[in-house]
Amino acid sequence: MQTLNEQVPAPTDVGNALIGIRGGSELDLDLRFESVHEGILVSGTATAQIAGDCGRCLEAIEYDFEADIQELFYYEESEEFEDDDDVDQYWVVDDLIDIDPVLRSAVVTALPFQPVCKDDCLGLCSECGISLNDDPEHQHEILDPRWAALAQLSDTAASDAANNKTSFMREEK
Ligand SMILES: [Zn+2]
Ligand SMILES: [Zn+2]
Repeated sequence: MQTLNEQVPAPTDVGNALIGIRGGSELDLDLRFESVHEGILVSGTATAQIAGDCGRCLEAIEYDFEADIQELFYYEESEEFEDDDDVDQYWVVDDLIDIDPVLRSAVVTALPFQPVCKDDCLGLCSECGISLNDDPEHQHEILDPRWAALAQLSDTAASDAANNKTSFMREEK
């Protein structure tokens, strides 16, 4: 068995459009390599700096993520692997293993599809784009013409009611 404790530059393009590993940032590897019958078992953690944008308010998000890694790299002559196209198969090639794809899948599957800066992020105003987190009371006068027509109707109704009341009172005299 061998261990590896090393900091390496993180690969680029790990993640989705909104969030992923900050390319070139420090990647902290803490791994064990064990020789087993079929190949080499790699286990341990990789800690990466995650950077992205909140999907609601576009505020920057940053945090460290510790990915658990456990993967068997098969010797090329080994016949003992699951013959299944859906399962990613990793190989020891020329006495080397490439943990890049293992790291990618460990991190990418753990990333949120809809990253948010905080669970109750209020997002942006759909009218003017300001962040509602800065001003939760923020709202706009309703300018939709359909609502304006309704407002006019209710004005008319109110003044009709007022007129009726006056005429009713006149009759009473
Ligand atoms: Zn947010
Ligand atoms: Zn607004």
